[in-house]
Amino acid sequence: MQGKDLVILGAGESGVGAAILAKKNGYRVWVSDRGVVSDHFQKELDNNQIEWEENQHSMERILQADEVVKSPGIPDHIAIIQQIRDRGIPVISEIEFAARYTNATLIGITGSNGKTTTTMLIHHILKSAGIHVGMAGNIGDSFAKSVAENDYDYFVLELSSFQLDGIQNFRPHIAVITNITPDHLDRYNNSFEAYRNSKFRITKNQQPSDYFIFDADDTAIQEGIKHTQIQAKKIPYSKGFIPPEATYIKDNQIHSTLENNHFMIPIQSLSLKGQHNAKNAMAAATVTQLINIRKQTLKDCLENFQGASHRLENVLTINKVSYINDSKATNVNATFYALDSMTSSTVWIVGGTDKGNDYEPLLPLVREKVKAIICLGEDNEKLIDVFAPVSELMVETNSMSEAVKIAYKIASSGDNVLLSPACASFDLFENYEDRGNQFKEAVRKL
Ligand code: ADP
Repeated sequence: MQGKDLVILGAGESGVGAAILAKKNGYRVWVSDRGVVSDHFQKELDNNQIEWEENQHSMERILQADEVVKSPGIPDHIAIIQQIRDRGIPVISEIEFAARYTNATLIGITGSNGKTTTTMLIHHILKSAGIHVGMAGNIGDSFAKSVAENDYDYFVLELSSFQLDGIQNFRPHIAVITNITPDHLDRYNNSFEAYRNSKFRITKNQQPSDYFIFDADDTAIQEGIKHTQIQAKKIPYSKGFIPPEATYIKDNQIHSTLENNHFMIPIQSLSLKGQHNAKNAMAAATVTQLINIRKQTLKDCLENFQGASHRLENVLTINKVSYINDSKATNVNATFYALDSMTSSTVWIVGGTDKGNDYEPLLPLVREKVKAIICLGEDNEKLIDVFAPVSELMVETNSMSEAVKIAYKIASSGDNVLLSPACASFDLFENYEDRGNQFKEAVRKL
């Protein structure tokens, strides 16, 4: 491939990462972005003497490429991608490209929810065990940039379905699917099956010496396994007992029995609370057991791991009311687990850009745990329709500071105030981080 022409579409984190790695490996690289390239990435490209264009895609030049790397944000079906493919030019993802240039053992994590938490947890455990390990993909630096700048022995990669769509030979030694629930269906012709198949691409190139780890309680994963030829050794984790090799829960303890190795930890002592986080811990324990991490290290890490921001993040306790930021809950399933993990009466802040949500699964939890609902979205009509019958008190607002002030008035000693929107944030906020940060700021100002 050396000396060949590589065109990269999209000058964001993954595109610029791919460009840097390609340049380092002797390609003639050119980056094209239909939008504006941010100052930060302009500088990065210029510093690496990489040519680029913005506000257009110059097709003539693009079609001279030997290979095209497409950023995950660009959908597959658009005209220029078709045109490139029609010319017989391979279009791959940055993940596929980066994997060619590392001999590190790859651990890939995908799923609808829990990717970031599980990725960070596995990274934390391996790092604490003294392993030279990098964390990349959908989190932090792109995989390509990390490969260009480091020489890790292991990589823990958070992978979105879009990133998996563009792989050909990418082969993680250990692949994890945390769960599959409806999300991003707009990119998959509204087909849940297509979205599920996209997640299962993580197993596509695995060999019998590799491992596939999955939540065996998830019905969409069960279906996916039936419809996919998987060569890797399958290792399930589940709330129920599944012998002989599995991670499971028995008597409120997580047990992991793998290749004559047995590990055990009480759920109570996990630092991250909630059923969903117990599942994430099970996934992480399974992966790290396979790498033979010392049991004490694994136990310590599961007990002391501080989760990522905006995921059931404890912000402050004021007048014995706990304020919890779960802004990253951008779909119904994530909010389901947030409400499920509330152990006392809760004032719930919900709403935003609805992605065609079905709120039905939340109704029993709302009935049981929610004392008031604060709708925080540009359009709250659907929320009001769905939840009014099960909620005694509903309030509408368009600003985070107001939402928090109202919550403060309603909550009494022992309650929780939970921001878990079940929706995207783009109607009132820049992104979920902005929404979570505004929540934290408003709480601190109380
Ligand atoms: P992702 O990277 O897949 O979006 P995160 O770890 O960032 O996952 O968590 C996203 C949201 O989903 C948070 O609100 C979090 O509390 C919730 N969550 C985390 N793990 C799980 C899980 N295993 N199942 C369901 N929801 C989860």
